[in-house]
Amino acid sequence: MEHIYDMVIIGGGPGGYTAALYGARSGLDTLILERLSAGGQMALTDQIDNYPGFEDGIDGFSLGEKMLRGAERFGAQTKMAEVRAVRLNGAVKEIETAGGTLYGRTVILATGATPRALGVAGEQELIGRGVSYCASCDGMFYRGKTVVIVGGGNTAAADAILLSRICEKVFVVHRRDTLRATKIYHEPLMKAENIAFCWNSTVSELLHGDKLTGVKVRNIQTGEETEISCDGLFVCIGREPASELVKGQLELDGAGYIVADESTRTSLPGVYAVGDVRTKAFRQVVTAVGDGATAAYYADEYLTETKQAQEDGALDR
Ligand code: NAP
Repeated sequence: MEHIYDMVIIGGGPGGYTAALYGARSGLDTLILERLSAGGQMALTDQIDNYPGFEDGIDGFSLGEKMLRGAERFGAQTKMAEVRAVRLNGAVKEIETAGGTLYGRTVILATGATPRALGVAGEQELIGRGVSYCASCDGMFYRGKTVVIVGGGNTAAADAILLSRICEKVFVVHRRDTLRATKIYHEPLMKAENIAFCWNSTVSELLHGDKLTGVKVRNIQTGEETEISCDGLFVCIGREPASELVKGQLELDGAGYIVADESTRTSLPGVYAVGDVRTKAFRQVVTAVGDGATAAYYADEYLTETKQAQEDGALDR
């Protein structure tokens, strides 16, 4: 007979490993499925200064390893596996991997989201050397410097305001002549003396040696190109949630995020979404960690309730 885990967590980022820690520590038979290495997106971050408890900061890879070991200490198991498909609507959920099908009474989706890239030559190579996708993570490295932000949504607007308090000068490059961002951001943006806008424009080239030194900005109406000398480029053009696996099974919002409130409960019983893949306002390591603890709490509650129902003969398996 196949083994049925109490909790299968898909994705070993901070949300996933916190759910694992709380689940295993509550005595649940807990499995984490991870594709590459512990930490998810966080593992790609050189320096994390906004996760409390590390007064000198910590690199994301080491923090991921610590989270893994913390969960394994209480018996959580990690399997390196690529999940190919899931069937989430039964009392026993099925998770199909290259190595076979796994079964769980609850599933926690912690698959994350990846920042959308500009697709300009050199962008990937300059990550951590001038190119960033997160102002609240990396903004402090640009204190007193000049930065360029690309995008016109709420993230770009909020990040421009944040960076204007840290940096000497902030350029916002947006492909249209109006911001998509909600009105609440418009006034503070226009009032900030050190924020300048490049409307109807895109970044066409990155100028660099070992580090980013500037960008070429192209006006898409006139074709005119100008150079901006800068130390940092913040790409804020949206994110791609890793929710393909659950499309058609769970409710997603227009951008593809799994709809779940602070309880992390999704549209199916026994299925929870944590961290960046969930609908939420602020996607950070600390908020993912909070989600992980909450999901484990509700999964435990669900398991107790379903066990009771099973004992009462209400469920088949
Ligand atoms: P978003 O709303 O999708 O905005 C993305 C922006 O990037 C848009 O202005 C878009 O231009 C631009 N863009 C997209 N692809 C581009 C490309 N290839 N080149 C240049 N520009 C490109 O994404 P977001 O700002 O990250 O926000 C995501 C979600 O989080 C939204 O629902 C947002 O409301 C929410 N959020 C909320 C808050 C808050 O409430 N405080 C803060 C941050 C984020 P166009 O306008 O031309 O499409």
